[in-house]
Amino acid sequence: MSKIIAIANQKGGVGKTTTAINLAAALAENARRVLLIDLDPQGNASTGFGITPDQRDTTTYDVILGEASLAAATQKTAFENIWLVPATTDLSSADIAVVDDERRSFLLRDRLRGAVSAFDYVLIDCPPSLNILTINAMVAAHSVLVPLQSEFFALEGLSQLMLTVREVRSVANADLRIEGIALTMYDKRNNLSLQVEADARDNLGELVFRTVIPRNVRLSEAPSFAMPVLSYDPTSTGAEAYRRLAEELIAREN
Ligand code: ADP
Ligand code: MG
Repeated sequence: MSKIIAIANQKGGVGKTTTAINLAAALAENARRVLLIDLDPQGNASTGFGITPDQRDTTTYDVILGEASLAAATQKTAFENIWLVPATTDLSSADIAVVDDERRSFLLRDRLRGAVSAFDYVLIDCPPSLNILTINAMVAAHSVLVPLQSEFFALEGLSQLMLTVREVRSVANADLRIEGIALTMYDKRNNLSLQVEADARDNLGELVFRTVIPRNVRLSEAPSFAMPVLSYDPTSTGAEAYRRLAEELIAREN
């Protein structure tokens, strides 16, 4: 069965897209077939996999609006076992386009249902907001993976996100789970990182992945070479961390 994971946090710049790209790559290294759905109008996940704007004829927007099937919008990336549905800026008008649709929270779920069985994992890279796009991702998903930047105030934004998850559970997707919280941009020489980690583990316990993602400049360089860090610098600390994160997910299979 395919597992659909929404990668969400309403804060921007916390490592959602970096996690989506590199977790996809690490799962693919383990022979898992991965579909990455770019649900952010900024299209950073598409760019990070080398899908240029002129290669984005059919996009997530078309899928949500029902103007294209998921299969028609899915592209093979240059990387083995990784497929992608690209996004363009027109996705930012999706909320207005669907405002009168009674099923507006269910559109992505309706498009994915029965259409993703070829994949082991479907990762949805959410926009930095708890808008209708993120709601669609949470309604369509089995679980939510939350990248949490290791900085002050990180935990405060989390309660709003958890409230949204609870709301989605109660009205649309009762089985929605928290896959885990991944601490990102972690710097073990920085007391603040250690403090955020201690707070997160005290408050959230098992929900926090054992793996922490270190701050690693190779992770921020890789997208400009249109590749995951696992290809750009396979032995970097960033690559190793995303491999361990993937192992935690794979260990939960069955
Ligand atoms: P989001 O998708 O949540 O907005 P991104 O994944 O785009 O966040 O990350 C924001 C910025 O931080 C990007 O420039 C990215 O390359 C960089 N970045 C993300 N994670 C790390 C990390 N672990 N170490 C160093 N830079 C990172
Ligand atoms: Mg992003």
